[in-house]
Amino acid sequence: SEIPVLTIDGPSGSGKGTLAQLMAERLGWHYLDSGAIYRVLAQAALKDHIDLTDESALAELAKHLDVQFLLTKGQLQVILQGEDVSLLIRSEQAGNAASKVAAFPAVRAALLQRQRDFLQPPGLVTDGRDMGTVVFPDAAFKVFLTASAEVRAERRYKQLKEKGIDSNLSDLVAEISERDERDMQREVAPLRPADDAVIMDSTQLGIEAVLEKVSALID
Ligand code: C5P
Repeated sequence: SEIPVLTIDGPSGSGKGTLAQLMAERLGWHYLDSGAIYRVLAQAALKDHIDLTDESALAELAKHLDVQFLLTKGQLQVILQGEDVSLLIRSEQAGNAASKVAAFPAVRAALLQRQRDFLQPPGLVTDGRDMGTVVFPDAAFKVFLTASAEVRAERRYKQLKEKGIDSNLSDLVAEISERDERDMQREVAPLRPADDAVIMDSTQLGIEAVLEKVSALID
């Protein structure tokens, strides 16, 4: 397609969410937080008492998921059936539940078109695990952002704290590595860089430095 896409994939806490939002703002492009869709789905399943291991029920739920994303003043608001779940879906528990539902092929298939619908002029910045490999394989710009597990856990800790969510750093290290492991080992759309992705490591680099590097890539 002629509409430009910048995909940013990577493990949790790599800084991809922050980077994607800032790039979308800078470029004036739309923004897709694909992880939020899986988080909302898991939340909706809990609400409807659907078992997180019931693939066909989860896929059915995914097809009819009533979710809205509102980007106001650089803040992403996530609305599930009219209820603001923006904060609720950010806990590490919600991330883990998301990673469980995201491992099912039928769930991923049900959510594919919904993600592609975000592709609107003048462009799209998207963050997730399989943006460059599966959802937008023809994207003009692909970044894979990594960082050491320790640094990622520390960042997550700070992010959660800023949102008023209490967590424990050593629990976070364990939870994040469990989630990464599941995301990398799954059969369908595993977390991995696309062959044509530029790989960046944010362990030592601040977000500003990464932002400049990615901007240079697009200019
Ligand atoms: O990026 P975020 O931490 O919000 O993603 C939550 C979970 O959703 C991930 O751990 C992953 O299992 C799943 N996910 C995915 N594919 C994406 C984005 C997220 O499987 N494109």
